[in-house]
Order: sequence, then C-alpha cells, then structure tokens
Amino acid sequence: MKSILIISFLCISANVFSQNLTDSTCRRYFEMTAQLIKGDTISKTDFYNFLQDKNIQIYLKDQGLGDDYGERYRRSMQVVYMPKNASILATRLKTPEQYWLTYIINEYKIHETEMKAYLNKISSNPNAYYDTCYQYAFSALAKSSRRKLPNATFSIIPIHNDAHASGNTVIYTLLCAYANDANHYGALGGHELHHMLRPQADFVPQPKDEVLVNVLNRVLNEGSADMIDKKYSTDTAKLLTPYQRYFQVFFDDAKIVLPRMDSLISASAKREQKFKVRDFFKGSDFSNGHVPGTYMSHYIENNGLKPKLLKHLDDPFYYFLVYNEAAKKDKSKPFVFSKQSIAYLTSLRKRYLKSK
Ligand SMILES: [Zn+2]
Repeated sequence: MKSILIISFLCISANVFSQNLTDSTCRRYFEMTAQLIKGDTISKTDFYNFLQDKNIQIYLKDQGLGDDYGERYRRSMQVVYMPKNASILATRLKTPEQYWLTYIINEYKIHETEMKAYLNKISSNPNAYYDTCYQYAFSALAKSSRRKLPNATFSIIPIHNDAHASGNTVIYTLLCAYANDANHYGALGGHELHHMLRPQADFVPQPKDEVLVNVLNRVLNEGSADMIDKKYSTDTAKLLTPYQRYFQVFFDDAKIVLPRMDSLISASAKREQKFKVRDFFKGSDFSNGHVPGTYMSHYIENNGLKPKLLKHLDDPFYYFLVYNEAAKKDKSKPFVFSKQSIAYLTSLRKRYLKSK
C-alpha cells in the first residue's frame, strides 16, 4: 500500500510540472514541402486549413497579420520549394529585404534536415529542454520568482521568424527556435519564460500617465528578459541568420532612441503635448522595448547593478533609475537621462508605488 501511495504521488508531481510541447504543425509543414519538392502545388484550401491551427492564429494576430499574408506565404513557398521555380528563387534571394518571405522560407528549406533532427531531440525529452530554459529565465529573476509554471505550453510553428509569449503559452517559430538553440541552447526559451514569470506591479495609472507608463513597462519587460539572450546574438553568432543577430542593431539604434525618449519624458512632465507610445520609439525600425532595453540592461549588468535590478523587477520606474546610476558609473560614457526626466520618473514612482 505504501509503495502504491508513493508511486501515485510521484505520478501526480510529474503531472503537475509537466509541460506541453506541440510541434504537429511542423510535421504537417514538412508533408507539404515534400509535396512541393515533387512538383505539386498546395491548394489554397489546404494552406488555409493549415493556418487555422490555434497557435498559428495566436501568433499571426499578435503580429497583426491577416489572411492576405497567408496567401502570400503559400505563393512564396511554391517559389522556394517547387523545382520549376528555381531561377525565380535564385533571383529573389539576391535581394532578401525585397523578398523577405522568400528569404525566410528558403532558410526553412536549407535547414530542413537539421530542423527535423532538432524537433526530434527536444520532443524526445521536453522536460530536459524546459529545465535548461528555466535555468536561463531564473538567471534574470529574484529567487522569490524562480518557480516552474504548472501549465505552461510550448508550441513550435513552422512559419515566419519570431517568438511570442502570452498567458501560459510560448509560441516559437521553428526558424527562430532552431537557430537560437543552435547558437545558445535554451536561452531564447529562457527569455520567453521570463515574460511569464516576471512579477508585475499592481497599479493603474491615471489617463494622463497611461502612455508613459506603458512605454516604461515595455522597456522593462523586454530589457529585463534581454539580459538572458541578447548577449549571444552578436555579429559573431554565425549560427544565427544575419537578421537574427540583433545585439548590435538594437545597441546602435538605442543611441538614437534614448535621447529622443529622454526629451519626451521631460516634455511629459511639463505636459507640453500629448504623445503616442510609438513616438517614444522613433528612430528605430523596432518599435518595442528591445532597443532601449538591450542597451540599458547591458550597462546595468556591466556595472554590477543587476542584483539591485532583480529586487525591483515589477517597478518600471526603477529600471530607468538604476540604469542612470549604471550609466553615470560607466567609463565609456553611455547616454545619461536628464535631471528633469529622472526627477519626473521619481515623482511618478512615489505616486504609484507608495511603498518605494
Ligand atoms: Zn521578449
């Protein structure tokens, strides 16, 4: 009886912490590519049905992509995989920026064998994979936030090139997961898990402060998670595609974005005019928190202030204050926010986070 109890307890524990891994759409994708390589087309209906997968739909909506995108994707796949289109493909690959879908899909094509081996590896022991990802996530979290999510789901989808986390679900595109894991196994998963584990402050900004607080939160959200993986996405990371080597791009763009952001924070204090979220990120093609965040986290970490930051990961104001402390210490003289901006952020912090 005792042994039965122990066994059932173990089963329950294993079950509570088991994570789901879904990669069925990748298997379906490779059936379609085999069909194309043989010279057959994919019908609009078949491809539409393929895109109706729940996780693909979540991902497409998050990226703001509709049905017309699906149709462009299907046509581009036919160019990439069908032998009769080889010369069109060769021409398009000369200008990837102009034929972006063709370029991405071709990356799927040239790495298909390795991608299948990669999927077999992680699906044969998903828990070992998650453990590695959790260790990366924990490296940028305070001890009190280091826990495993009971119902987390990881889904790998075979279109596009990005990753997304919402609720309890991480959605990786296969190209992103495969290349990032080849480059630094588990780091990208750690970044996405960080979004799900980072503590969130519980306050509602007044309407006049909504935009600025939203901007600060975006920068904290990506900046804190970028401490995990962006240091591996440098120009020397040859296992990533050139377009996945984000570190330097984000870093260089931040030198343009941060001074602008500083002047908008100061102007917000004076209420000179109303700004939109996107105004704060102008100067870069990337309108999310990565650009300031990668730069700011780099200096926070390099100047030994990461342990301080980890104690306040729910505080979007503190992220800017601790960055400024780091920037002032740093001999290479990175950008320093103005006194006016820092005073305003400090006053907002007092208003909304009274215990601080
Ligand atoms: Zn992220």
